[in-house]
Amino acid sequence: MNFSDSGIVASVLTEKGFSFTDDIHQADIVFLNTCAIRENAELKVRQRLQDFKKNKKQNPEFIVGVLGCMAERLKSQLLDEEKLVDLVAGPDAYRDLPRLIESVEGGQKSVNVQLSLEETYADIRPVRIASNGVTAFISIMRGCDNMCSFCVVPFTRGRERSRHPQSILAEAAQLFDDGFREITLLGQNVDSYLWHPDTNTKREILKTELKNDSVSFARLLDMTAGINPDLRIRFSTSNPRDMTDEVLYVMAKHDNICKYIHLPVQSGNSEVLCRMNRGYTREEYVHRIESIRRILPGCGISTDIISGFCSETEVQHRETLSLMEWAAFDFAYMFKYSERPGTAAAKNFKDNIPDEVKSRRLQEIVDLQMQLSLRSNKKDVGKAHLVLVEGISKKSDKNLFGRNTQNKVVVFAKENFKPGDYVNVFVTDCTSATLIGTSLI
Ligand code: SAM
Repeated sequence: MNFSDSGIVASVLTEKGFSFTDDIHQADIVFLNTCAIRENAELKVRQRLQDFKKNKKQNPEFIVGVLGCMAERLKSQLLDEEKLVDLVAGPDAYRDLPRLIESVEGGQKSVNVQLSLEETYADIRPVRIASNGVTAFISIMRGCDNMCSFCVVPFTRGRERSRHPQSILAEAAQLFDDGFREITLLGQNVDSYLWHPDTNTKREILKTELKNDSVSFARLLDMTAGINPDLRIRFSTSNPRDMTDEVLYVMAKHDNICKYIHLPVQSGNSEVLCRMNRGYTREEYVHRIESIRRILPGCGISTDIISGFCSETEVQHRETLSLMEWAAFDFAYMFKYSERPGTAAAKNFKDNIPDEVKSRRLQEIVDLQMQLSLRSNKKDVGKAHLVLVEGISKKSDKNLFGRNTQNKVVVFAKENFKPGDYVNVFVTDCTSATLIGTSLI
């Protein structure tokens, strides 16, 4: 999401005549677009800021700006704590960046962390920074209303709002015309996407009279898939509490909607899920996976898991492992719980699992996922997969890499293929992270 937001920042600034450089020595301004989801992310930003000390020394006019969630969380406190920071802008303040820069040039430190109920940057065509020219993100909504007790996002990205569907479709169609072949629709909780011409307030839209004219995520997905059968569609992130069978049926209807769902579970224990305020139980999550397997056989499923949430017992941790086994996730993002100031968990529960226990549980989760990923990949050996080529393989320039519909990375010999091609690849071998094969002509 930050990657996508940086494209919006680039677009706002390009409009005002700024240009970009990869070379820090050429730059007059540097912006760090930050994440606040775990303490580690913030520590990385603080370390990175130290790198700019020498640039400031060489050029006192050099401007350092902090954007995004850490900016929103710490606000002007960041200016006091990190003396070399000149500018702080939250995720809804990017249109204001030219004014903020002017104010820094006039000798003032500047801050805008105003969150908005309406801002979706719908009219801004993001600059595709460091693009591979094949795959692109499209932000379809901003903010989050879910209030998971561990999560800082509702405080740093504000209330949930959905972007005008026509602006999303226009951006997708333009990307296709520009040669892109895959788009990922992005939101903290895409299943909750709901747009209505008259109001941006979800509570209003949910009133039945308004609902008839509204556009749901299933409808948006259906319309986006209709742009061109050669344009692959992905989306992230789905939330088990909001995902509907309607979305699954739309996925089944279109070959170009990738058969892959990222469905964060966080924990396999219902009591922990309740304390996390996730809005579903273990049984409901299991039921959701069963629907996916029934409506979309062969669909890839990945997840997010947190180890060592407040008061998590050994038995509850084992339930996470058993759910992972049952679901046979293809892939997972796995984290140690990190208490975030201001969240409901920080206010109401003790972060009482010792770090070594969190680490040990995380390691058990990671080890199990490695086995599950390998088992899942082995099932793909001996089969043909339609792969969209994204670029040259990191390990050898004689090989290309791309993804199959289940989002698995596939590596194969380059021959005369190029990024953007769809290639039928027969998979002959695998690791836990990659499928390896040869093209079928
Ligand atoms: N919106 C998505 C959802 O709710 O499923 C995910 C958003 S979050 C940016 C990505 C992942 O970070 C979460 O699914 C969760 O596993 C993890 N995460 C969020 N807050 C965390 C925290 N305080 N400590 C550790 N992991 C956290």
